[in-house]
Amino acid sequence: MSADAGRFAAELAALDTTALSSYSLGVSDGDVDRALGAEHLYPRHVAALLSPAAAARLEELATVASERTLQRFGRAVRLFAPLYFSNECLSTCTYCGFAKDLDVVRLTLTPDEAEAEARLLADRGFRHLLLVSGEHRVAVSPDYLTDVVRRVAAVVPSVSVETQTWSDDTYARLVAAGAEGVVHYQETYDRTRYAEVHVAGWKRDFDRRLASTERAADAGIRRLGIGALLGLAGDWRADVLAVAAHASYLCRTYWRTDVTVSLPRIKPCASGFQPVVPVDDASYVQALCALRLAAPDAGIVLSTREPAALRDGLVRIAVTHMSAGSSTEPGGYSHPGESQEQFAISDERSPAEVAAMLTAAGYDPVWKDSFPLLPPTQARVDNRGTEVKRRAQASAF
Ligand code: SF4
Repeated sequence: MSADAGRFAAELAALDTTALSSYSLGVSDGDVDRALGAEHLYPRHVAALLSPAAAARLEELATVASERTLQRFGRAVRLFAPLYFSNECLSTCTYCGFAKDLDVVRLTLTPDEAEAEARLLADRGFRHLLLVSGEHRVAVSPDYLTDVVRRVAAVVPSVSVETQTWSDDTYARLVAAGAEGVVHYQETYDRTRYAEVHVAGWKRDFDRRLASTERAADAGIRRLGIGALLGLAGDWRADVLAVAAHASYLCRTYWRTDVTVSLPRIKPCASGFQPVVPVDDASYVQALCALRLAAPDAGIVLSTREPAALRDGLVRIAVTHMSAGSSTEPGGYSHPGESQEQFAISDERSPAEVAAMLTAAGYDPVWKDSFPLLPPTQARVDNRGTEVKRRAQASAF
């Protein structure tokens, strides 16, 4: 572990996710009962929820997860759209369609073009946009990115960024430009596997990436997104355990900050990467149920990578944030087909159709949070904050 690994790195090092995953393979029905009945979940409880024994009781798991989601988040489901503004990249990640050496059409939008995409998405109803790019420190420099954030933040009230990791200064500049959120998926928390699939470039530094969410929060970012790409490593249970621990750490440490987690599964892309171990739908539902119970204060994000029928089911169980009507190519909303997409999407419904599905299912599609988050320097301990802190402190992770 390097010196700039961040504070969570020590907790991760102490959590033997491989041993916990092995333990989960042999747990009994009684262990699952105890996990389902526990008020505060310990890592062994989470391992029990991820076990084959729990898989045989998936309906029961889903019922408990659904109850917990309703208690904590009500029937609000927040909708957002990714806005891809560059697919240029200096890193080589074997699973990604934007990897440096792939012969694909590259494009970086001008700030004007990014703003036009934002206006188009705002016309479709979105008030929360996620700005996404590859990792190219020249094409997507701090100056350029800050400009894009400022332009898009003038169009919609909530802007998050999913780009490369940055220095403290750049995160502070992004906050000043209007960025509320940062998303940094660790992809896998298995260091060995991480090194195998992150072959070259900035993203190859495991510790730096792990620490960057803390850096962003310390700089004043108020929405933190983390996750793992299921199918990348051979042991999906170990990665779910690590994501749960990371989410619990962030909820506990940055309790005035909204934390979201996501478990995307590998989809077809230009790199032709195939998952080591495919994660089937039942295992995927089980993973999200376990995550809901392990990190009850964390929002769960589901993208259009997943098919419509599965998304419709998961929103009734654990999901609190959904993208809709997504394009994963730069400029893809205004000029589809002119550059390379990052990966293929599965749910091709329009934002209006997804919102109608939510309403018909008894949920409230929310295009933007109804109350603005307070900057940390101005934050006060209000009723909501007090409740979040109390719950977060109760977490055993
Ligand atoms: S995952 Fe990110 S850093 Fe890696 S190749 Fe794709 S865009 Fe580049």
